Amino acid sequence: MTQAMNSSPALLHADPLAPVALGDNNAALFRKLLLGVSVMAGLTHLCFLLLFYNSGVTQLAIINVGSILCYALTFSLLWHHHVIQAWMLIILEVVGHAVLAVYFVGWESGFHLYIMLAPPVMMFSSLGNWRGKAPLVLGLAALYVGLDFFLRPATPISALAPSVLNGLYYFNLITVLGMQIFLAGMYYRLVVQSEQQLREMATTDPLTRLRNRRSVLDTSTCEAAKQRRDGRPLSFILCDVDHFKTVNDTHGHEAGDEVLKAVAKILRSGVREVDHAARWGGEEFLLLLPETASPGAEMVANRLREAIAELRVPGKDGPLTVTMTFGISSLHLNEPIDQAIARADKALYQGKHGGRNRVELATEDVLLQA
Ligand code: GH3
Ligand code: MG
Ligand code: MG
Repeated sequence: MTQAMNSSPALLHADPLAPVALGDNNAALFRKLLLGVSVMAGLTHLCFLLLFYNSGVTQLAIINVGSILCYALTFSLLWHHHVIQAWMLIILEVVGHAVLAVYFVGWESGFHLYIMLAPPVMMFSSLGNWRGKAPLVLGLAALYVGLDFFLRPATPISALAPSVLNGLYYFNLITVLGMQIFLAGMYYRLVVQSEQQLREMATTDPLTRLRNRRSVLDTSTCEAAKQRRDGRPLSFILCDVDHFKTVNDTHGHEAGDEVLKAVAKILRSGVREVDHAARWGGEEFLLLLPETASPGAEMVANRLREAIAELRVPGKDGPLTVTMTFGISSLHLNEPIDQAIARADKALYQGKHGGRNRVELATEDVLLQA
């Protein structure tokens, strides 16, 4: 796990705070959280240092110097992606500081409250599974109970003035409550972000950022239901890059990917906002045009065909050009969508046989138009 956290490529970005992919989302957020905690804790300990120095509790003032150095080291470890080491150091500091502070100035100071923050943070951290976390969390809980049992009734070594002790207690209480709210907010953000990313991954093609096949089929089902209800037309355009294998074979797979991205951009920007463009598979795309009959779809396809033919994709050996063939079908009333798409596919096949770089209407739609 240490290895994974320290060497994951996604965590080795040039910008240490750059966002990362879903798998590393929790780890990246946890690291950011600890960076924030290090800064806040460092500054808080600076305040404690001044307070204890002014109150004459020299031992605690010295301990706070150690704490500040500790958080400086933690920050540096986190900056260099040594998250586990930083997290362990924070736990040690929190526990050590709490125990010593309660021992010196008494339970009433409220320093023990900080220990309560560690178990929830540990549970939602990305470091290890619950089997690894359970002993640490239970250990912290046992330590807290032990401290409560032994130190709460004990007489403090340095007796602070009641007003200072009271102020310290409320400062610590408010800080701990504030941190709890902050942590819960971070966790909520992580859950919402992960949900969004999962939804996007399930519906988006990673290369072209268009909808994927599943997503466009779901939308087609909804649009077909609307068509059945109000009788408005719905068309499908299935299109395929011509001789794409040659592009890959001649210029390489990466150049092929660039062509697919450029084609996808034209298809998306060349249709209305209400239309849907999707990657159907490989170098094949499906466009779903609501409230559009086959003559309208034919116009759209011809416009796109021309735009694709004019496309110049920068390549190592000069600009690449491609053409596309388009097959069109309009959904008949009560026709299953896969049947209408199959008719568009048949039309596309005819277009390929007819010489490519052309738009072909499904036979049934040609007959209906006649
Ligand atoms: P046609 O004009 O008949 O459609 O010929 P074609 O060469 O385009 O069709 P074919 O089915 O023979 O080849 C399609 C190629 O598309 C083969 C496959 O490796 C390539 N391909 C599929 N998906 C991707 C992708 O995501 N990136 C790249 N670069 N190539 C892909
Ligand atoms: Mg092709
Ligand atoms: Mg194909």
